Amino acid sequence: MPSDDAELPTPDFTFDADAPGACVAGIRPYRCGSYRLEPEMVSGRFVVHNYGHGGAGITLSWGCAAKVRDFVQARTATSHETEVAVLGSGVMGLTAATRLLDLGLTVTIYADRMFADTTSHKAGGQWALSLVEYQGKDSELKDILTTAYTTFKCGIGQGFGVSERPNYASKKTHNLEEVLRIAPCLIPPRVDLPRMPFHGHHNPGHLYQTLLIEPPTFLKRLVDDLKARGVRFVQQNFADQAHVFGTVTQKVIVNCTGYGAKKLWNDTAMHPIRGDLAMLRHQPNLQYLYSQNGYMFPRSDHVVIGGNFDCTENEQPSKAECKKLVGAIAMNFGLAPPMAIPENFIQHPRITEWLRRRRLAPADTPCVPPCNPV
Ligand SMILES: Cc1cc2nc3c(=O)[nH]c(=O)nc-3n(C[C@H](O)[C@H](O)[C@H](O)COP(=O)(O)OP(=O)(O)OC[C@H]3O[C@@H](n4cnc5c(N)ncnc54)[C@H](O)[C@@H]3O)c2cc1C
Repeated sequence: MPSDDAELPTPDFTFDADAPGACVAGIRPYRCGSYRLEPEMVSGRFVVHNYGHGGAGITLSWGCAAKVRDFVQARTATSHETEVAVLGSGVMGLTAATRLLDLGLTVTIYADRMFADTTSHKAGGQWALSLVEYQGKDSELKDILTTAYTTFKCGIGQGFGVSERPNYASKKTHNLEEVLRIAPCLIPPRVDLPRMPFHGHHNPGHLYQTLLIEPPTFLKRLVDDLKARGVRFVQQNFADQAHVFGTVTQKVIVNCTGYGAKKLWNDTAMHPIRGDLAMLRHQPNLQYLYSQNGYMFPRSDHVVIGGNFDCTENEQPSKAECKKLVGAIAMNFGLAPPMAIPENFIQHPRITEWLRRRRLAPADTPCVPPCNPV
């Protein structure tokens, strides 16, 4: 932490929304009640579901992958199957495949989109419990968070695109407070700051310590390692379950199809929570994450600014939304005109309240997506 008077570098908020790749959008695979992580027998196949992780799929990936491995290990110990099909080449499919290889199984990955075209590749990359439900699952989630965090931490400096970072937040952030509640002592405790260490921006705030995982680096490394270990990737779109069972010969199937599970597995609990990200130029002097009226992550490819949502399946980036995201953070630093925090920002008080109510709701409470009034 800097000394009382030290200030951290101010970001350069220059942003050209028309530049190629300046604005990206993805669909968070949000599942009402809880992410889905469980086995079931369907048409004589042992299917393990691993989807619905909302805005926290990167965060939870290694922990869920370990649970998938345990389900499959328990099955194959008696069935003696040696081949597994993984559906999906996003972070959930790639990390699950990695853990299945550790069991000595032969793994084939089937996916419509390969890693660079997935939602996982578009994620911002903070390690935090953002926009995901887990009603009644605090104990399981504690295991998942612990495994995921410790695995990512072991990957620091190993070419996985992981680093430890401070996150400065003007208000307590729900997604890191939840980590502190569910898995106390996993990440360092929050420090309450009498003043934030930014030029012209000295209001009180909070300092968290978390991880930054750079999805383009992380996913490419997973794919390279899987290929080196003999995993076969098959480009394939599945129209429905019958198509899966007619195409895939393996008796053990791991379903990591993200938002695609809504249609493929007829899962009506799945909802799209789309988000935009503005990609500013890489700024190596910025080493901190920042959360107020949106978020800012300083990655080695870009400084990424995000934090909005809408409830559509439209993956077309919105230049107007990206400009708003940049303007909201720049405003905090006194570098953009004042604006009211939009209602479709995750940190809007309406959404904070919605998240609180969803967390406390019993698992069978009807789902109210955040786009509807609280
Ligand atoms: C703007 C934004 C910011 C985010 N920021 C963060 C963050 O900072 N931290 C974090 O932890 N998470 C973040 N997330 C969330 C994270 O991106 C997701 O939770 C995660 O990518 C989900 O991974 P997945 O593997 O389940 O799905 P995906 O990455 O979507 O992969 C799904 C795979 O399944 C395949 N598939 C789907 N349907 C079919 C089908 N019918 N036939 C064949 N293949 C199919 C797809 O082709 C793809 O390969 C963010 C998301 C968005 C949109």
